[in-house]
Amino acid sequence: MNTVTHLIAGRPWAGTAARTGEVFNPATGAVSGRVDLASAELVGDVVATARKAWSGWADASLAKRTQVLFAFRELLNARKDEIAALITAEHGKVLDDARGEVMRGLEVAEFACGIPHLLKGGFTENASTNVDVYSIRQPLGVVAVIAPFNFPAMVPLWFVPVAIACGNAVVLKPSEKDPSAAVAVAKLWTEAGLPDGVMNVVHGDKEAVDALLTHPDVKAVSFVGSTPIAKYVYETGTAHGKRVQALGGAKNHMLVLPDADLDLAADAAINAGFGSAGERCMAISALVVVDTVADDLVKRIEDRIGRLRTGDGTRGCDMGPLVTRAHRDRVAGYLDAGVAEGATLAVDGRTGEFDGAADGFWLGPTLFDHVTPEMSVYRDEIFGPVLSVVRVGSYDEGLDLINANPYGNGTAIFTNDGGAARRFQREVEVGMVGVNVPIPVPVSYYSFGGWKNSLFGDSHAHGTEGVHFFTRGKVVTSRWLDPSHGGLNLGFPQNT
Ligand code: NAD
Repeated sequence: MNTVTHLIAGRPWAGTAARTGEVFNPATGAVSGRVDLASAELVGDVVATARKAWSGWADASLAKRTQVLFAFRELLNARKDEIAALITAEHGKVLDDARGEVMRGLEVAEFACGIPHLLKGGFTENASTNVDVYSIRQPLGVVAVIAPFNFPAMVPLWFVPVAIACGNAVVLKPSEKDPSAAVAVAKLWTEAGLPDGVMNVVHGDKEAVDALLTHPDVKAVSFVGSTPIAKYVYETGTAHGKRVQALGGAKNHMLVLPDADLDLAADAAINAGFGSAGERCMAISALVVVDTVADDLVKRIEDRIGRLRTGDGTRGCDMGPLVTRAHRDRVAGYLDAGVAEGATLAVDGRTGEFDGAADGFWLGPTLFDHVTPEMSVYRDEIFGPVLSVVRVGSYDEGLDLINANPYGNGTAIFTNDGGAARRFQREVEVGMVGVNVPIPVPVSYYSFGGWKNSLFGDSHAHGTEGVHFFTRGKVVTSRWLDPSHGGLNLGFPQNT
């Protein structure tokens, strides 16, 4: 039995935890390990370790920081298969998908390698006679990163390389459901030459999160998870004087217009609806189709679902199990609810064969048709392999539906009409928009983040917004005195 413990100043914690949690292999249903859950006191000790290491790291030159980042990038690339295997073993997603998440995280490390350029300030010579003005950005101190289960490597990597590159020290709290990948990635920082204590991992649940949110030496919190917890984290963290970005849940719509290529739209709906068993914050869960092409599109999707193989992520299947039995049962509960509320269950994911152990947390791809906005399968974030077709009469009806939704993470339009696509990207109230791209996750040098209930706070993740989040600005007004500057003048300084 594997024990997953905290990583403090580059070393595994040597203590004995009063509380531990179970870690499962979702493809077998068996408990594969136990994770130590930190007490508030231990979190305090880790923050103190990070605070001590921080001053040295904040003073490290950009040349030194960049060397560490490049080395980290190389190590992460070299170990991607190892990390992907850890993700599949605890999360369940198929290996290719796990590798893909590591690579998208690696892109953020590559972005952070350019930190000297990103931290360049402005300089104005002679703003007033012989007075120069310039701006600099400085690190915050200790920052906390709190991550969800669904991207155990990528989500921490959205924040950690940027935070470290900006000169901060980090305490990462991964999801207790699949904690091993985060530890494996964190160890690479030590190998890359990062001083001990700048990067730390504590495992835990609400107790650890609350300790981070209220600790006076934690200056900023980057959170990703479900909407109710994101809201709680934002409110608690900001009430304790911290800068907080809290990314929440989603209900992503894909709007298909009658002129779209229906084969491409069907492929995209399948990939974005069932990839990672729908456990993606950018998964498509509502397929909004103009009704003249709805029957045709539904038929093409049904055909494709028939060709998908669900099973153990190490066996070359298309889709893996859900993360826990409780989550699997919760998602399966929506199948009954959808039928009871009047939706047509076109494909039932509970039936069929699964290529894996009998006790795995299996649920196959599920398709609902004739879903309406008041049904729970439409309203709730299901976070499983359930795609709901909502039929609309026109582009306008589809747009109104999307804009009325309380979430605003990602959305996509499928059309060959450039004018319609351009209208959509202007009019839709969602943070990340795809035009014939079903999962429009921005590249690392843009920023990732939704609108409305999908993000609490002002800053999106990575890109220049990430650099701003992990630094604070200072403006210096400077004059090198010579004797001509003498004399008393108590008036408000004016630019001359
Ligand atoms: P979750 O909210 O249950 O957990 C997220 C983190 O919060 C974990 O580290 C967990 O330990 C901690 N936590 C859980 N309950 C808590 C509580 N009561 N008090 C304090 N901390 C608590 O989310 P999850 O199930 O791990 O992840 C899935 C959710 O994350 C989905 O809603 C998904 O949409 C969302 N998500 C959003 C994005 C995004 O970018 N917007 C990305 C990935 C996942």
